[in-house]
Amino acid sequence: FKVAVLVTGGAGYIGSHTVAELVEKNEEVIVVDNLEKGHRDAVAGQKLIVGDLRDKEFLAKVFSENDIEAVIHFAAYIEVGESVQNPLKYYNNNVVATLNLLTAMKDAGVDKIVFSSTAATYGEPENVPILETDRTFPTNPYGETKLAVEKALKWCDRAYGTKYVALRYFNASGAHESGEIGEDHSPESHLIPLIIQAALGKRESIKIFGNDYNTPDGTCIRDYIHVSDLANAHYLALQRLREGKESEIYNLGNGKGFSVKEVIDVVRKVTGRPIKVEDAPRRPGDPAILVASSDKIRKELNWQPRMLISKR
Ligand code: UDP
Repeated sequence: FKVAVLVTGGAGYIGSHTVAELVEKNEEVIVVDNLEKGHRDAVAGQKLIVGDLRDKEFLAKVFSENDIEAVIHFAAYIEVGESVQNPLKYYNNNVVATLNLLTAMKDAGVDKIVFSSTAATYGEPENVPILETDRTFPTNPYGETKLAVEKALKWCDRAYGTKYVALRYFNASGAHESGEIGEDHSPESHLIPLIIQAALGKRESIKIFGNDYNTPDGTCIRDYIHVSDLANAHYLALQRLREGKESEIYNLGNGKGFSVKEVIDVVRKVTGRPIKVEDAPRRPGDPAILVASSDKIRKELNWQPRMLISKR
């Protein structure tokens, strides 16, 4: 009788919000995190095992010493720009470590995994909004490593019966309503926290990476989805796996795109503070527009974003 849900990378941003969601749903949770990027405080009160998925012996021990029913796998590096600079770092942590995890799962007879994937698997999109059936052609190693894992999952399903749900996130944003956890990367590289730092006077200005994209105001358009809505989708994905249904891939977005300039303007409005912007070169690997169609997960998992972001 297997009881706990193992959450890798559970002390990170999306991971910790998902742990909070699972705990609210009375699930038994075990967090594995190497705390390289994650925060011990983000999973206060939960069972945390500190270790690295690149370490096979560590993983085997986690699975032999705990009753694990299913895995939700977040642990990975996530920075597009860094992945272009240092692809092997990304292949090692995002692909090799995940293959270790899948091997440990197979050896322990654990056959359910929810995988943290990304809109970066699509690359430059064919359609807006993007459908799950659209072409995947990543423009950076980060997206490439996530796509490589999706493909490994497909073949592991076929060979060993490992059932998966891969969730292709668009841009996670926001924080838990308790205010206890939120987005906290170090160094910070993500747009919204950087703008807020600029508004708070914690940084001089915000750089706009490219103002000559083929978009109405020239800056990149992204689909920002609330992290608690993402977290809830993981719970629903887990239920799908428990129902014994087939493996699936779902987009997870809000369905509306906002440009970098629009996001900055919103933070100006909400905080009432001036925010200095600086034009900077394009960031390598950045597609112009990434907006999701989330119709599939809405229909099949009855997922509904509660924190809808609407255009004025
Ligand atoms: N961005 C920017 N300045 C920054 C950080 C990000 O202009 O200091 C842009 C980035 O090029 C992208 C969008 O903001 O178009 C969202 O980037 P972020 O790193 O937050 O998320 P990603 O899309 O990489 O997941």
